Amino acid sequence: MSDSGPDEGGLPADDTLEAIQETLIEWYEADHREYPWRQTDDPYPILVSEVMSQQTQLDRVVEAWADFLEEWPTAEALAAAPRGEVVAFWSDHTLGYNNRAKYLHEAATQIVEDYDGTFPETPAALQELMGVGPYTANAVASFAFNNGDAVVDTNVKRVLYRAFDIPDDDAAFETAAADLMPAGRSRVWNNAIMELGGVACGKTPNCDTAGCPWREWCHAYESGDFTAPDVPTQPSFEGSRRQMRGRVIRALGEYDELTLDKLGPRVRVDYGGETGEEWLRGLLADLSDDGLVKIEDTNEQTVARLR
Ligand code: SF4
Repeated sequence: MSDSGPDEGGLPADDTLEAIQETLIEWYEADHREYPWRQTDDPYPILVSEVMSQQTQLDRVVEAWADFLEEWPTAEALAAAPRGEVVAFWSDHTLGYNNRAKYLHEAATQIVEDYDGTFPETPAALQELMGVGPYTANAVASFAFNNGDAVVDTNVKRVLYRAFDIPDDDAAFETAAADLMPAGRSRVWNNAIMELGGVACGKTPNCDTAGCPWREWCHAYESGDFTAPDVPTQPSFEGSRRQMRGRVIRALGEYDELTLDKLGPRVRVDYGGETGEEWLRGLLADLSDDGLVKIEDTNEQTVARLR
């Protein structure tokens, strides 16, 4: 185990950090929710999606976003539209808080009149646009220009808190999120970590079913404590087996391989009897089915190792 492993709180050492970064990006790229604004790097549709999703669930935004872009496909087209029509569109699609429609229209006007039709590319410059706060500016800088900082929203805080035991403190989250992001990869990284928080590490976590790539290092997965700043009490799900799985993964990460009689007592202090070898074999078979662990029978001994 690394000197600064998750047991002590904080991010692991650099070599482990690289593996943590790569496995998350691979996990994201292998499969993720396909929102249409993730298929473009044009800042205008990305800004529209960000403004719409501030108050509306993503699945509902999809239709409104497509209709909006059909009506006003560019910042120029939006700037040329009467403001009343944009506000009416917002109301008709129940996107909430009509001022956002006015701000979006105003931002399009700024782009045309003050920026010659070209979006600024940094989070700081994007914040000059009407209604664009730090979060939206950073999202547009990341997703359009691959030029953003690490996103820190509720989902990301939950992930950092659980996985690396980062204390519930905004400055600590900001630092950890920034240190965790691979340099120059804000587009894929911010998408990936938000996907992790949305799909795997939700309020009730789906560590195994979502194939979370961080189980090997995750503090919560090992300890079985899945509370988080926005999850004050233990979410109601069968956590203890997950905890045992976490311990198997952690023990096998520490040693190259272990025989069952060496592994068992590292997983539970009461190893033996009903929770003895047969129980451990069941746990290992699950982990093997999930592609995490390899089991080998050699010289009348069964040996387990990480896959
Ligand atoms: S292992 Fe579970 S708790 Fe840990 S980061 Fe993954 S989904 Fe979240």
